[in-house]
Amino acid sequence: MKIGVISADITSESRVAITPDAVKKLRKLGFEVVIQSGAGQAAYYADELYQAAGADIASSRTEVITQSKIITTVNDLPAEATESLSSGQIVIGMLDPYRNTQLDTYAAKGATVFAMELLPRTLSRAQNMDVLSSQANLAGYKAVLLAANEYSRPFPMFMTSAGTVKPAKVVILGVGVAGLQAIATAKRLGAVVEASDLRPTAREQVESLGGKWLDVPMSAEEAETAKSTGGYAWTPSEQYVKDQAAVVDKALSNADIVITTAQIPGRNAPRLVHGATLAKMKAGSVLIDMAAGTGGNVEGSVPNETITTDNGVRIVGAANIPSMLAAQSSDLYANNLVNFITTLIAPAGDDASASLALNVDMEDEIQGALAVTHDSQVRLAKR
Ligand code: NAD
Repeated sequence: MKIGVISADITSESRVAITPDAVKKLRKLGFEVVIQSGAGQAAYYADELYQAAGADIASSRTEVITQSKIITTVNDLPAEATESLSSGQIVIGMLDPYRNTQLDTYAAKGATVFAMELLPRTLSRAQNMDVLSSQANLAGYKAVLLAANEYSRPFPMFMTSAGTVKPAKVVILGVGVAGLQAIATAKRLGAVVEASDLRPTAREQVESLGGKWLDVPMSAEEAETAKSTGGYAWTPSEQYVKDQAAVVDKALSNADIVITTAQIPGRNAPRLVHGATLAKMKAGSVLIDMAAGTGGNVEGSVPNETITTDNGVRIVGAANIPSMLAAQSSDLYANNLVNFITTLIAPAGDDASASLALNVDMEDEIQGALAVTHDSQVRLAKR
């Protein structure tokens, strides 16, 4: 049974879904692997490395798709590639399910499509398949380096004979996986860090990393809601949003670096930094908007562009930071995919010579959660 690896659009994506190391793991499980020539090039994995790991190289995406039972991808398939799909094929990738406009096409083709972002994250057996965490962790780290690169002063305090250099003041808004890694990285570089999140439980994590918690007042009712959402974001009241804007405004007026990471699965990212606040920021300060690709936390941010406001504030619309660390993010993503693919294999039974078979089962809590199309139906509930 073949697993295919297709190439992403390399103008916007440098990662690859399966690495040579992952090819070896898949072959051990009994799969054959075919990869589109050049698919790993931008992540520094040449065709020769895949061949050495036991993969076949195909010259086109269509060739990979027509040969494979399972097609792995980083992002959604290009429209022309969906044309080559046939009934019973499986597609696995980060498919941006709530914005994906091809679900009807996948269903019409009879493909079973698994969107890795929909993983039930609290399930302990699913944690090694958590692509959001594996990619966000790297992105949080790299966001700080991007900010340091854009900033025209250093992060640490320096005592020099020419004078004392003050440490950079960094504010992190949204303290999930990416935000926590950003705090840790900024602290390692010697910055003074403040952070906020609408989940009050994040306070302890911020403080344990040496950051200062920026507290937004919360009604008793909201505090209850925040607790009951099991650690995930909740919809804040108008009053909370207003109070949060005031806290953000005050903190950013003194900040040198701001990293925003706030996302809401299936919806546009919340707007956390408004134009009026940007106008109060110091010339030369830098904002990295990690939610630029899903609507933006920062007013005026543009995906994949860096803009400078009239008062000299630089806003980096960092829509796809994991792609900037393509080698490492591909390694972790490929491991996540191999772990998920392992769950698709039917139990071997008593016949040791029986060939590899799949058990696609919508009753399985992981498969059922990830499948956005199956049996010619779109299964994704609207948000
Ligand atoms: P995310 O990328 O969806 O969002 C980033 C952060 O932004 C989150 O902490 C969220 O609370 C925050 N946020 C959203 N809207 C906001 C707003 N209006 N104002 C301020 N902050 C806002 O988050 P994530 O990194 O994917 O993590 C989400 C949650 O999942 C966290 O609680 C994390 O600890 C949890 N998680 C659990 C597991 C697990 O149990 N295995 C694994 C990974 C993450």
